Amino acid sequence: MKGVPGSLTHGHSGYAHGCHCQVCIEGHRAYGRESYSRRSGSPGHPTVDAAPFVEVFGALYRMGESIRRMAEVTGLERSTVLALCMGERRRLRPHTAERAALAVQMLPDVSLIGGETP
Ligand SMILES: [Zn+2]
Repeated sequence: MKGVPGSLTHGHSGYAHGCHCQVCIEGHRAYGRESYSRRSGSPGHPTVDAAPFVEVFGALYRMGESIRRMAEVTGLERSTVLALCMGERRRLRPHTAERAALAVQMLPDVSLIGGETP
């Protein structure tokens, strides 16, 4: 099954699998354009402010949490987690924000830092 010439689906998925023929490169470009326009918040696709999430992810990142762990806890793509850590996201889709909110539980309990040591 694998490696049979012609079995590859050309288009953006072919490009993703390492095929760099013209069809795949064009397909990938078109796919990128499409997902970009979806991200930029057209009517009917409301987005939420990413700032609070950037704060949480940034804090976790500075505390030494790994991108992999944050991705595991939230179920987000590692690239999304990294973008949030770096403050490269301004808006999030509601579904993404919902998942990103799960990262809050990774923050240390602030009451423990508050100085109530025995
Ligand atoms: Zn191809």
